[in-house]
Amino acid sequence: MAQSDVAYQRCINPDCGAQFDCRESMFKCPKCGDLLDIQYNWEKVPVPKTLGEFGKRWANRNRRLDLSGVWRFRELLDFCPDESKITIGEGQTILQQNCAIAEHLGMKPDCLFLEYEGLNPSGSFKDNGMTAAFSHAAMVGAKSCACASTGNTSASVALYAHSCGLRCTVFIGTGRIAFGKLSQAMDYGAQTVQIHGDFDDCMRQVQAVCVELGLYLLNSLNPFRLEGQKTIMYRIIEGLGWQVPDWIVVPGGNLGNSSAFGKAFAELKALGLIDRVPRMAIVNATGADTLTDLVNNKKLVWNGGHVDQKIIDDYYADLTARHFSPHTCASAIEISRPVNLKKCLRAIDVCNGVVLAVTDEEICDAKALIGKHGLGCEPASAATIAGLKHLLAAGTIAKDERVACVLTGHALKDPNVTVNYHKERQGEFSNPPIEAPNDLQEIIKLIR
Ligand SMILES: [Zn+2]
Repeated sequence: MAQSDVAYQRCINPDCGAQFDCRESMFKCPKCGDLLDIQYNWEKVPVPKTLGEFGKRWANRNRRLDLSGVWRFRELLDFCPDESKITIGEGQTILQQNCAIAEHLGMKPDCLFLEYEGLNPSGSFKDNGMTAAFSHAAMVGAKSCACASTGNTSASVALYAHSCGLRCTVFIGTGRIAFGKLSQAMDYGAQTVQIHGDFDDCMRQVQAVCVELGLYLLNSLNPFRLEGQKTIMYRIIEGLGWQVPDWIVVPGGNLGNSSAFGKAFAELKALGLIDRVPRMAIVNATGADTLTDLVNNKKLVWNGGHVDQKIIDDYYADLTARHFSPHTCASAIEISRPVNLKKCLRAIDVCNGVVLAVTDEEICDAKALIGKHGLGCEPASAATIAGLKHLLAAGTIAKDERVACVLTGHALKDPNVTVNYHKERQGEFSNPPIEAPNDLQEIIKLIR
């Protein structure tokens, strides 16, 4: 069956609703400028009757698409033929039940799960999206690509571009960028352009450059990326024995993940593959809390797609007037104009979601707590545990509800934050090295 019969792109603005073939590459609705979504004619897709059928593919790990934790679920993102699919073995992540952190937070011990996306080939969740976007790039015959990045995107883009022979340029700002991530982009052979500005400036420039030079854009504006990111939720459900948790907790930056997760659950529910949709909590850093402010204070809602654009425009105009630049140690979510804002509002609607912001101090303490008892993560990931603490205290999340926190990136992505926290005794869990003289007896005295 021709893929164009199965999937198509559609503008999320209900007053527009323009549709386009998946073999086109545009990333914004050419009619109204709104975001595009991938939609499926589900009756033409051979979706298994139960989610458990996907799990059986683990037995075929010698087949490249079954090895991938994204393409194992390929019928749920069926927008390109198998021969176009690019995979480097992404999505082989684990859902870790974490009793120690649950107990520390006062939860029932068996109720907390950490979805560890740091196990992806480039060390972050981004690989879930890139495998999908690069497959689309291959389908449309792209030769060169670009992205703007706070770090994780550039690392992932560079890795995939290099594995499928695309030329690759990444744009980074002069603001905060984690060294671990920057080192990856350079090591994987990407041309790295550092723009004098913050992430939002890079985002504007990269879009213009892609139009001007005909480059394939790999930011989360790219709707195909979000299709891949849906699979993070499938794997959480898989890790729970194909059961849906009560809550998903996710950091909020450009809002691609929360948008993808909401779409994943809406589709699974419509297909009858799950019987209920979990609630979702999206956690900003207080220094980059556009979503929190817009949703909690300005009461911005999805409203069936009729989002009040004036609230957003006024908010951004005010940011510009104040020369506001977001600021948080969690560089991955240091974003004040999230490109997927509207899709995220839809996800909040689907998942009866809540939004909150946590301080950098709370993020760093939570990061050290995860490091001590879990698998370790980058600062943005730890916003989930910091946020969960607030939501438990407020009674929004009950102590016996099953919660899955998405740890988006590996601890080694941002070693500077970790080293500074411990060496400079910045928080509750600081664990600095002990100075010792070069003397055996003195050293032995210190080890207790
Ligand atoms: Zn449109």
